[in-house]
Formats: sequence, C-alpha cells, structure tokens
Amino acid sequence: MTIIDAAPDVRPNSDGFTPIPNSHIASDEERGVAKQYAAWTTKYKFTNTEVYYEESETGEPYRFAGGVQMSYGTKTFIIFLKRGATEIDLSILHIVVDDVKAGLEKRYPWSSVESKKHPGTEFRSLTLGTAMTPDRFESIRPYNRRFIVKCTQEGCAAPYHLVEEDDPTAVFVLHKGTEKIEGAGYEIRLSKYADEPWKVSISGRGHDDLYLHPTVAASFVNDVAWLAAEARRLNIKLGF
Ligand SMILES: [Zn+2]
Repeated sequence: MTIIDAAPDVRPNSDGFTPIPNSHIASDEERGVAKQYAAWTTKYKFTNTEVYYEESETGEPYRFAGGVQMSYGTKTFIIFLKRGATEIDLSILHIVVDDVKAGLEKRYPWSSVESKKHPGTEFRSLTLGTAMTPDRFESIRPYNRRFIVKCTQEGCAAPYHLVEEDDPTAVFVLHKGTEKIEGAGYEIRLSKYADEPWKVSISGRGHDDLYLHPTVAASFVNDVAWLAAEARRLNIKLGF
C-alpha cells in the first residue's frame, strides 16, 4: 500500500472530530478534474471488523469507523462501514464523497490499492480516522445515536437501515420493496416491518382519498394485483 498523495492540510476540524480539509474552496483546475466524478454512483459495504480507536504518534485518540474507496473501473464510490458505525460516521464519509465531487480529492491522503478480485486493477482507498475519544463519542451519540446496519432482507431496496440498537432484526425497521409503481395520482410499493409479512402500501399523491380516472383506476387495480402476487411470493418463502 502506497500513499500516493500526501495531504498536509488534512487535520481535525475546530470541532475536533472531522479531518476534512480546512478549505472547501476548489481551484478551477480541481473543479475541472472533478467533472469525471459527476455521474459516479455511491454504494455501501459492511465489513466484519468493529469500530476501533487508536492513538496517533502525538498521543491523540482517533476513531476508525469506515472509509471510502474510489473504483475507476465501475465509476463507483464505495463507502465501507465497520460494525458499530453510526449516523455521525456515515455523514462524515458522505462529506468525503461530496468533497471529491467538488474537486477536493487531493486534499485527502488516499492510498492506491490493487483489487483482489481483479488483479491489475487499482482503486483508491481512504480509511478515515476522526479525532475522538470513546467518552466524547458516547457523549455526542444521543443526538445522532442510530447505528447503521446492513439490510439482509430479501426484496428490500435499502442497503442499510438506521436502528437504535446495533441489531438488524429490530422490529421497528421498515423494509421497502424494490418495486415502486408510480401511477397518475397514486404510488404503490411493498413494505414490511421486521417481524411481519410483506404488505402492499398505497399512497395517494396529495389526497387522503384516491380520485382516479376510470382508465387510471383500471391500471391501479392491475398494479395492486401484481404487487400483491409479489408480496405473496416473498411471504411464502418467509413462512407467512
Ligand atoms: Zn431493509
């Protein structure tokens, strides 16, 4: 692993927990380079390692909860999160992605890593440490306390959910189906609470009641029937 860009201006913010660049103003040249990232997508990966704290050479404690990878081959930002990562950690990693898109890529100390899956393909990686003690993190956590947990529910469109406890089976997680049908005046999709079967959820746009033209009403009936069949298919697998 080689550091390809030293970034002398990356250091903790005045609030003490975000090693984001001190200046967020990109030069014309930086903005020009960043244009290539405008259409990149963001994906999430969940590692099996846990959040940890480590002291820097000068004795300052840092929290390590995840990082960002830039895959040039797939044009993807991959935000990876360790077990125990929370909303605060995720929001800091989103700042990194936004900064790269704004032209500030070289302000961060990226490492160049060779892909294990595709030897010969390199991507950039940044494991982000935020200046923070465990005690201080716990003291601010009540305000951003939800943990990020990977969603493993088949049929759910969400890559992760925010939960109060570090438990992906929490009953208050609302899974949302991958299929969303938007008709003229209505929206239908599947949704599911953790311990319940998939259900068809219907919302009228801007109205409590649905007022549908007969033609639209006919499509509505078809759409509901189609999603109901999909819900039954998923529920049988789950034993409902
Ligand atoms: Zn889900």
